[in-house]
Amino acid sequence: MIIAVDGPTASGKGTVAKNLAEHYGLKRLDTGSLYRAVGLAVLDAGGDPADVKNAVAAAEALDLSAIDEHRIRSSAAGLAASKVAVIPEVRAVLRRAQQVFASDPQGAVLDGRDIGTVICPNADVKLFVTASLAERTRRRLAELRGRGEAINFEELQAQIAERDERDMSRKDSPLFQAPDAHLLDTTSLSIEAAAQAAYAIVDAAIAARG
Ligand code: C5P
Repeated sequence: MIIAVDGPTASGKGTVAKNLAEHYGLKRLDTGSLYRAVGLAVLDAGGDPADVKNAVAAAEALDLSAIDEHRIRSSAAGLAASKVAVIPEVRAVLRRAQQVFASDPQGAVLDGRDIGTVICPNADVKLFVTASLAERTRRRLAELRGRGEAINFEELQAQIAERDERDMSRKDSPLFQAPDAHLLDTTSLSIEAAAQAAYAIVDAAIAARG
């Protein structure tokens, strides 16, 4: 079974995907981490994430097993990720890695922006996870403050809105809800309630398939 989970930054899609993977015994790929790792590699090399040559070289050199899970979570890495993500050649390199992951006969959960639309258009179940901009900003603020990053609410909200805009308006694989994706709005849901709602969606999809 392939489960595709898409949605904007800090919508709760990562947590939903993690819980789905545990609940159904599937492996999971957080595809945002690939874009973050590429963005961070360009920054580390002193390059500009919007520069095609730099970004493609970093994507080609990416080693999935060597991603620094802590450093890729910084706001700088997130912003750099959304810049390398508009480059079609970068997306082509990362698409291959994601499709190899998704081709495992054991099934998988993948979360990102274009899983249900481009990477796994034939996924068994698709979820589109969202939440209000203010709620997403509150969540990300708590996460970044936990990391010791000094950033205020307004500044972060503007950054997230900028990232949303870039993700939704890019030509290659923009963020949007696939017509056959189930909408899950987590604005007023606890982590547990969001997980339960996601299991109900998946169970209903499995039952409908027979
Ligand atoms: O999900 P996360 O915030 O970690 O993703 C970081 C950035 O990577 C996103 O803003 C988006 O630009 C890009 N991304 C993407 N396609 C995906 C996953 C992430 O373009 N499947």
